[in-house]
Amino acid sequence: LVKLSNIRKSFGSVEVLKGVDMAVQEGQVVAMIGRSGSGKSTLLRSINGLERIDDGVIEVDGECVDPSQIDLRALRLKVGMVFQQFNLFPHLTAGENVMLALKVVKKQDKAACRAAAEAALSKVGLGHKFDAYPSQLSGGQQQRVAIARSLAMAPKVLLCDEITSALDPELVNEVLSVVRQLAEEGMTLLLVTHEMRFAREVCDSLVFMHGGRIIEHGPPAELFDRPQTPELAQFVGMVE
Ligand code: ATP
Ligand code: MG
Repeated sequence: LVKLSNIRKSFGSVEVLKGVDMAVQEGQVVAMIGRSGSGKSTLLRSINGLERIDDGVIEVDGECVDPSQIDLRALRLKVGMVFQQFNLFPHLTAGENVMLALKVVKKQDKAACRAAAEAALSKVGLGHKFDAYPSQLSGGQQQRVAIARSLAMAPKVLLCDEITSALDPELVNEVLSVVRQLAEEGMTLLLVTHEMRFAREVCDSLVFMHGGRIIEHGPPAELFDRPQTPELAQFVGMVE
């Protein structure tokens, strides 16, 4: 569903992606780990067109994401993304936040937007919070609204960039369990995460990024238990 070939990206004279190859099959759940600065966010942002790559090919759902004439609207219908910060509009209710993108991007009428938003909020366990403002919700609930906002667009793949990192520890699990449920339902997911236990339990495949390259990939248990590179061994020792 997502295929990356030889992705390169520099910021000024610093090359942060040095030829990344990766594939995510439909229904697969892939976790990406690696040290700060290894290029994880840049890679995710490239997949939904938030960064323009310098070289390589990104294919989503059989279509090339051509960096020169990229149709961002079409791309974002296929690729959803959730960030560490929830980025909800504070002056809009949970329901309005979810409906906004539907209105703007999908150009659906009001009734269809409302129905889709209600369904998406119910899916993350917040059907009863449609009219609540972000300030009336916990961090975990706000992040679930952000997930609902992406889900409402019915993306083919959902990219999650450290979506639990800004949360208080007691709120992490409610968000992870939503992700786990999506995984069980067959959603294609690519997640950058520091939750190693979650990666081990839920993900089909794990990729380890180091210095702008994927230097190991495979089944999570294998990577955790038998790292092949000193870099991964050190990383696993550090976080576990
Ligand atoms: P973290 O775990 O801290 O989120 P990361 O693996 O997501 O790290 P990236 O955010 O992809 O890393 O950053 C990779 C490198 O690119 C870093 O050295 C970062 O400073 C640099 N970088 C990222 N975005 C920009 C930018 N817009 N301009 C210049 N440099 C950038
Ligand atoms: Mg990052």
